[in-house]
Amino acid sequence: MTQTFSSRAVGAASATAPLAPLSIQRREPGPNDVQIEIHYCGICHSDLHQVRDEWKSVMPTVYPCVPGHEIVGRVARVGAAVTKFNVGDMAAVGCMVDSCRTCANCKSGQEQYCVALPTFTYNFPDKHLGGVTYGGYSEAVVVDESFVLRVPAGMDPARAAPLLCAGITTYSPLRHWKVGPGHKVGVVGLGGLGHMAVKLARAMGAHVVLFTTSERKRADALQLGAHEVILSSDSAAMTAQLGTFDFVLDTVSAPHDLNAYLEQLKLDGSMVLVGAPAEPVPLGVFSLLFKRRRLAGSAIGGIRETQEMLDFCAKHGLAADIELIPASKLDQAYARLLKGDVKYRFVLDVKSLS
Ligand SMILES: [Zn+2]
Ligand SMILES: [Zn+2]
Repeated sequence: MTQTFSSRAVGAASATAPLAPLSIQRREPGPNDVQIEIHYCGICHSDLHQVRDEWKSVMPTVYPCVPGHEIVGRVARVGAAVTKFNVGDMAAVGCMVDSCRTCANCKSGQEQYCVALPTFTYNFPDKHLGGVTYGGYSEAVVVDESFVLRVPAGMDPARAAPLLCAGITTYSPLRHWKVGPGHKVGVVGLGGLGHMAVKLARAMGAHVVLFTTSERKRADALQLGAHEVILSSDSAAMTAQLGTFDFVLDTVSAPHDLNAYLEQLKLDGSMVLVGAPAEPVPLGVFSLLFKRRRLAGSAIGGIRETQEMLDFCAKHGLAADIELIPASKLDQAYARLLKGDVKYRFVLDVKSLS
């Protein structure tokens, strides 16, 4: 039987229970494992969906649920066969803690598309201990070193945490579609994902245009790196640039009109969805036919690519804009997250658990 140790955590006992302190078991590190003393964990909108069991039909929540997949901390222990990490290193874990490692997608470094599904960081069957995996709202996590990232020297660890989901989710499609100098890129929505998309696309050398429903976000978007801001309710502004974009990254998870953004694309332009509205959305196929446009989706990024993203952010001085909160403010933070009232990511200060 696998040996375990106890770790303090915060989680939900049911879909309606508040987030409360609890104790969870972590496995003792095996030969290839790294044990991380967690310092910070970003609070992703997915955490809220999962805790409240809003994805019941696809990924029902097993309780207690300890969410969190934007993890940064210090290496506390390493297994005998670990080669990439030493005790004391700053390390990070994102949305996955394992995968089959043998399918074509895993072998090409795209573990997020593992045919057997990667082992997600929380609420996914735990192959070591049974039950489900527990996320980063906890003091410690034990992960195979193949799924642990290096936090580059000099990076603020609290501001680095959201890069592990919000950062990679936006970096991966920008890279896959080779966004760079000379490209006009639209970012739809300025939340946790959107604010990183603006920063990253700007650092990659693109001309960045933010689409938002909120005039209040104009000044922030420009300050974060957008060259232009278009209010989606301003039909004159929406019409003025129709058919001129190379790429549109849509980060909105609330229901909204995709067609209005598809029509911003020029010939062979691509629009990629990284937000996930729960309900199907209407698609006007004519938006695609004219100008041979493409509509695609993208999910997080592979481990190699996540490291590349962290190194890119360090090189360009990029990190998330955050609001650091103690565990006692988690429920309040969730309520504010629901209203989109955060600039631009809450990060849990894990020290507050002790
Ligand atoms: Zn996330
Ligand atoms: Zn695989």
